[in-house]
Amino acid sequence: MKNFSLKIATPDGLVFDGEVESLLIRTTEGDVEILAGHADFLSALGIGRARITANGEKRFAAVSGGFVSVRKNEVNVVCTTFEFSDEIDINRAKLAKERAEDAIKSKKDSNAEALLKAKLSRALARISAWELGK
Ligand code: ATP
Repeated sequence: MKNFSLKIATPDGLVFDGEVESLLIRTTEGDVEILAGHADFLSALGIGRARITANGEKRFAAVSGGFVSVRKNEVNVVCTTFEFSDEIDINRAKLAKERAEDAIKSKKDSNAEALLKAKLSRALARISAWELGK
């Protein structure tokens, strides 16, 4: 399978830089799978799982917010958070999920609710990526 160059950056720095066969990532429009030769493209990222395939091996990650761009067979992801499954602290994610669910149930103001729902989505993405990476 043909490869393409993928770089993933967060505010902490470059978290991935390599040649890959495929990137599956959650955009605000839904999941997108990018393969070599994909048309030039720019999209905002949602909160969800990502899957990178390189040398026939799949790695899963949790991603939140940012952008993905494809230009001349080079793919760049700039995101707010990115954790590979083996970097995810599963207990922290489970606690974050419980805290967000409890706070949503207690129904405070609606602005807080949107932030809490995003927090819950991040926790669910981390739990899902961790389970896929087991
Ligand atoms: P928490 O309430 O546990 O902090 P959060 O969703 O509010 O969760 P974020 O603001 O999305 O956390 O992330 C803050 C930083 O902590 C980022 O660098 C992110 O990669 C890291 N992080 C958050 N949760 C986890 C986790 N379960 N395992 C590993 N890193 C995490």
